[in-house]
Amino acid sequence: MVKKLVVCVDGVGFDLLNQENIPFLYNFAKNNFLARSKTMFSFFGLEYSFFSGKSPLEHNNWLEFKYSKRGDFYWQKYFSFFGRGILNYMTALFQYVSGQKMLSKIYYIPFSLLPYLKVAQKNSVYDTLFFQGSYLSHKWPVVVKNGKSSLIFRKQSDRERCEYLKNHFSNNIDTYYVHIVEFDKIAHKYGHKSLQATNILKYYDQILSDLVKNFLSKFPKGDVLLWSDHSFVKIENKVDLTKIFKCCKDYDCFIAGTSISFWFKTQQGKAYVLEKLKGFDFGYILDERLRKKELVPFSNVHGDLIFAIKKGNYLFPNYYQGDKSFNYMHGYPYSKEQDGFVISSKTLKKKEYYLFELTPLLFGGED
Ligand SMILES: [Zn+2]
Repeated sequence: MVKKLVVCVDGVGFDLLNQENIPFLYNFAKNNFLARSKTMFSFFGLEYSFFSGKSPLEHNNWLEFKYSKRGDFYWQKYFSFFGRGILNYMTALFQYVSGQKMLSKIYYIPFSLLPYLKVAQKNSVYDTLFFQGSYLSHKWPVVVKNGKSSLIFRKQSDRERCEYLKNHFSNNIDTYYVHIVEFDKIAHKYGHKSLQATNILKYYDQILSDLVKNFLSKFPKGDVLLWSDHSFVKIENKVDLTKIFKCCKDYDCFIAGTSISFWFKTQQGKAYVLEKLKGFDFGYILDERLRKKELVPFSNVHGDLIFAIKKGNYLFPNYYQGDKSFNYMHGYPYSKEQDGFVISSKTLKKKEYYLFELTPLLFGGED
């Protein structure tokens, strides 16, 4: 099998690729193939689309969690005194010893909601189309080599992640995957075009140039695919939902910063939520047509009702990132400015690709 190096460069938008910001990547793109990666209104579903080669409508993943009467996170509430940091590790460790490969954090999800959530994908991310053949994947919180995973117990810089991969290039492994994340964090705070973010791009250019050159010197016929999932939008309006929504025994909700999923327990709960939403001009209900257009899977495990937030608005509490004061955000319903990029040594025939089109292309027969 052809050797493959694949890097997910989290959060670096298509519009940031230029000679000044990121010269190696820009020139590598020029000498190979460059396209837009068409972002989607999705969360975990974005990445899963890439791995599986299937659209979210087909693979039915959206939030990283699915609503369930019997969820996975029933014990965490008894240990709330540890704080989220330690609990995230305890949760990952618990999942790991239970033999689960797809480890998940509990983020900032309220302890009252956790018992109703299941991890959307337990094993199958490493059983997907992308992880066919022999592979080494470095993606927090695990390194997985041919199905065998080892937990990473400390935070690693993106440079360390790339170094790890580089030190493991060998004839026995065909596909190498790493996910780098430092840019995303900085861009949320300072903006994707800020000086701080530009500095990260320069640093990324070094580590990626080192990784790619090393890979190609070792495997001159190997394929390289570098991709990103989204860009950023400036937040103009922050909405504090605790002030407008009464927490209610009649419904559950998951607030993901750019969406709210509701699950109704009673008719009163549904009526209350619908009445409230009528007054919200910062978003809209995803009806069947919009759900199809935005590729949001139809199953109720993602919400009996999904409220999508308009670009530039931001909801908190945000169950994923906490109520940190973000200034830039991603994950809104589709708009071109949120697109990421695809750089490939294999031929790209189109100007834009959905993430689920990339893995079939990478493993396809052509060149
Ligand atoms: Zn992010």
